[in-house]
Amino acid sequence: MSGITRRDFVNGTLIGAGASLVSCDASKRALMAALDPSYYPPALTGLRGSHPGSNKHAHDSAWSGFSDWGVTTELSETYDLVVVGGGISGLTAAYFFQKRHGADKKVLVLDNHDDFGGHAKRNEHTIDGDTRITYGGSQTLVEPRHSNKIVTELLGDLGVDLKRFETAYDHGFFKRHGLGAVTYFNEEVFGQDKLVQHPFCNYPNYVEGLMGAKLSNEDAAEQAPLSERGREQLLRVLNGGLHLLDVPEGELEDYIYANSYFDYLKRTLGVDDPGVLKMARNSGLDWATTGTDLMSIGSAKSCGALGFAPVAVYDEENPYIHHFPDGNAGIARALVKRLVPQVAEGESAEQLVTARFDYEELDRASSVVRIRLNSTVVHVEHRGELESAAEVSVKYIQGGEPYQVVAKNVVMACYNMMIPHIVSGLPLEQAAALRLQGKSPLQYTTVGLRNWEAMNERGIGLAMSPGNMHQAVLMDFPVSMEGYEYTKGPREPCVLQMISCPYGNTVGAPKLVQYQEARRRMLSLQFEDYEEEVRRHLSGMLTGELFDFDRDVVSISVNRWAHGYTTGGPGDSTRIGRQPFGRITIANADSAPGADAKTAMMMGYRAVNELG
Ligand SMILES: Cc1cc2nc3c(=O)[nH]c(=O)nc-3n(C[C@H](O)[C@H](O)[C@H](O)COP(=O)(O)OP(=O)(O)OC[C@H]3O[C@@H](n4cnc5c(N)ncnc54)[C@H](O)[C@@H]3O)c2cc1C
Repeated sequence: MSGITRRDFVNGTLIGAGASLVSCDASKRALMAALDPSYYPPALTGLRGSHPGSNKHAHDSAWSGFSDWGVTTELSETYDLVVVGGGISGLTAAYFFQKRHGADKKVLVLDNHDDFGGHAKRNEHTIDGDTRITYGGSQTLVEPRHSNKIVTELLGDLGVDLKRFETAYDHGFFKRHGLGAVTYFNEEVFGQDKLVQHPFCNYPNYVEGLMGAKLSNEDAAEQAPLSERGREQLLRVLNGGLHLLDVPEGELEDYIYANSYFDYLKRTLGVDDPGVLKMARNSGLDWATTGTDLMSIGSAKSCGALGFAPVAVYDEENPYIHHFPDGNAGIARALVKRLVPQVAEGESAEQLVTARFDYEELDRASSVVRIRLNSTVVHVEHRGELESAAEVSVKYIQGGEPYQVVAKNVVMACYNMMIPHIVSGLPLEQAAALRLQGKSPLQYTTVGLRNWEAMNERGIGLAMSPGNMHQAVLMDFPVSMEGYEYTKGPREPCVLQMISCPYGNTVGAPKLVQYQEARRRMLSLQFEDYEEEVRRHLSGMLTGELFDFDRDVVSISVNRWAHGYTTGGPGDSTRIGRQPFGRITIANADSAPGADAKTAMMMGYRAVNELG
């Protein structure tokens, strides 16, 4: 199978020590530790995710080999462990390190973002005084009952009660309001704005309780704004299937994984209509790490691409409901609470859902564990010979200034492809392997709406949108817990999730070429561009009196993840890349690879064990 599905969750030069070191006075340290009391990143809107500036130093280093960071301030801080990267994997590493070695062990977590959690980010939208909680990345605990003992125990320690989701998730919400899976065709690409009550693919099927197609294949294809020939082809695809392949039964399984989905569409089903092919390309979305143009028939089938009949997505034990209102940020917050107990009131992950975290507490000199945000690590080096070194120095940039701390151990829980640019002296084979670890770009835009009457009127729970930047727009998951109530009715505020999997311009171009092109395009856009796109999308889809963009849209957070789902590297490169190196070990979901929170936790656990 090419790529990792939701179900399966499913060069540069080394930076020299360079600049000279000066020691830091106590007042400067105190200043750095104190964040403004109003500092509360979940409530920020605009460009979020990897927000502007967060990757600047990493890009300077990786793209142009920049290493002249200026005079480094050497802090008199020594840690038992420094963790590079404050995502779920890094936070888990910090947690297991203390568990294994003692709660008195001093740990520093450094992250380049203004908030902790990595991909697991919380978004809040305050709409007419009502705060709506949602997620800006890592969405749901996928199949948590299939977790191994380590993860199951960790979830238990964090107070995650899996049974609780059975009632916290409102299974009847979509049916009660008649909200189903539809397709929005936009004027720009399809010649007219039109809503058809059929998703034309299996993608929406993971949303528990969402109603399916309200039209038959025949009626839906007839309504699609395509040429007559296009409509015929669409119906042929919808009524197609593997039985049309001229392959003996016993060879079918191998055949479908060895042959291209787009070839099947074009050769077996005779599809050449650009509209139908566009619908097909965008029908897998974030179930996978590429458009379906790069998938085998087997992969396209398993992610429910255009033409594959709805299939059950999860087994009965594992419906897609293990979702905190802020997604897996709920897990990240529970980890932070264990590491820095004074950060918030509440114990279990559920009790923390409505807690406002006090970011001032994250980096107190008096704490055993400190989490330092807005800090990009640029250089990590053993002090002395690799075999005998007792310490590692860690240099990071904060507020444009370089600082250095010392640690007995380091876990690199950051993007693995960046590690060769940061860690000095890695064996060449390992460095080369790490550079090959890829990530696909992904974007989750969250929109604060005054009400969802227009969505309700049209029966939209999730709209596939093959002509738009955001190929799907959906009502957030209906979860209420610990005093947080999901929107009760169409007149109440809500959050819409808009999902964009950016692809390259050339259909069928190699994956890495498409990622690079899509990433460049993503990073070249300003907030105003996204706002305009969201305006056109929602206004075209929700025509009529009940929706007015300027009246009804209160806030937009564009969570851009230029480096989103981990895709690993070729052959054995992931295993070679993640090998321990002296006092430094490697975590992050990249080191499995697996775009999955449970995997991220396991990689944190492994990296700590490897430290000995
Ligand atoms: C949009 C999106 C949706 C997802 N949905 C799901 C889902 O529903 N379920 C699921 O299980 N998984 C999902 N995932 C996969 C997600 O990657 C994992 O769940 C998990 O959050 C990964 O955690 P991590 O700690 O390994 O990596 P990350 O979350 O990427 O954390 C690594 C951190 O290290 C930081 N870092 C990088 N370089 C440096 C440096 N030089 N100095 C300091 N810090 C650095 C990064 O910026 C980041 O904050 C999703 C991912 C994305 C992008």
